[in-house]
Amino acid sequence: MLAEQQPGTFGPVLNFMHTTPRLSETPRAESGTLLVPQPRGFCAGVVRAIDVVRIALENLGAPIYVRKEIVHNRHVVSELAEQGAVFVDDLADVPSGAVLVFSAHGVSPAVRSEAIARNLRVIDATCPLVTKVHLEAVRYVRDGYMVILIGHRDHDEVVGTLGEAPGAIQLISSVEEADTVVAPDPERVAYLTQTTLSVDDTRDIIDRLRARFPALVGPGDQDICYATQNRQNAVKVIAARAQVILVVGARNSSNSNRLVEVAERAGTRAYLIESVAEVRPEWLAGCTRIGVTAGASTPDHLVTEVLEHLHRRGEFFAEHLTVVEEDVRFTLPRELTAGRIDDPVLPSGV
Ligand code: SF4
Repeated sequence: MLAEQQPGTFGPVLNFMHTTPRLSETPRAESGTLLVPQPRGFCAGVVRAIDVVRIALENLGAPIYVRKEIVHNRHVVSELAEQGAVFVDDLADVPSGAVLVFSAHGVSPAVRSEAIARNLRVIDATCPLVTKVHLEAVRYVRDGYMVILIGHRDHDEVVGTLGEAPGAIQLISSVEEADTVVAPDPERVAYLTQTTLSVDDTRDIIDRLRARFPALVGPGDQDICYATQNRQNAVKVIAARAQVILVVGARNSSNSNRLVEVAERAGTRAYLIESVAEVRPEWLAGCTRIGVTAGASTPDHLVTEVLEHLHRRGEFFAEHLTVVEEDVRFTLPRELTAGRIDDPVLPSGV
C-alpha cells in the first residue's frame, strides 16, 4: 500500500505495511524500517546527458554514437542502446560524418581534435561541473602553476582533465601521495579535484598539501559537485540509524563506491549492488533498520525494485528522509538547442 506523499521532511512517505492478513502468502518473518534518503540517484548532469542522447535519437534518428558509457550505469546504457545509441570506446569505430555524443565525464582536447579530424558531428554532454574543472586546470596552467589533481587513476573524468595539460598536471589519490608529490616551484602550486570523491578523504589530502605548500591555491573548498556532497550527507544521516545500507549503483561508478565508503566510515555495514538480484539474505539477517540509497547514475526504478524485494521479505515501513532539497537543472548543449549540430565542436581551448 502506498501512502500519500507527505510535504516537508522526515515524514514517512511510503508505507509498505499490510493491515489485512493474506492467508495465501508465505509468512514473512522480518519486520522493521527501510530508511530511504533524499537526495539519491540521478543528478542534474546525468539527467542532462541521458536527455541529450534521447533527444538526438528523436531529432536526428539512429544511429547516434556515444563515446564511452554516457553515464556509469549499464541499465541506462542498455536502454539507450535498444533505442539506437551505439556505444564506442574508440572514435575509429565511428563512421565519418556520424553524430557522436561525448559522455557526462568529459573528454580531453585530443579527443575533440580527433573528432574534428574524423569529420564527426559532435554533441557535448559533458557535465558543466566537469567542464568547470577543465577550465580551472587550463587557467592555472596558463598562469604558471603546477596543478595537482586529486582523483582516481583511469577514471574517465580524470583522464579527460589530465589531457588538458599533459605534463603540467600531476595526479594524486591519497594522503601518502600528497606527502611525496614534487613541485618544481612550491610557491606556484594549485590543486583541483575529481567531482565524485569522498568529501572527507579529499579534505584530508588538501590539508596535507596545504601543510607542505602554504601558498597552495585551489577552487574554494574543492571541486566535488553538489550531487556528490548531498548524497554523501544523506547517507551519513541514514548510517546513524541503519544496521546495514544497500547502495544501488554500478561497480565503476565513483560516487556510488564513495557512498559505501562513507557509510562504512560512519560505522555501518554497506554493500554496493547493481540491482536487486545481488541482494544477499545473510546481509540482512536480523536487521530491523535497513538503509537503501543510490549513486548519481542509478535510475530510481532499480531502487524501487530493491524496496519491493525487501517488502516481500517482511513487514517493512519505509521512512523517507529528505536531507537536502535539490533543485538543480542544466540547460541542454547548444548543439541541440541552437540547431548547430553540423558545426564541429571546437576544442574548449581548453
Ligand atoms: S555527479 Fe556531479 S559532476 Fe558528475 S554528472 Fe552528476 S552533477 Fe555532474
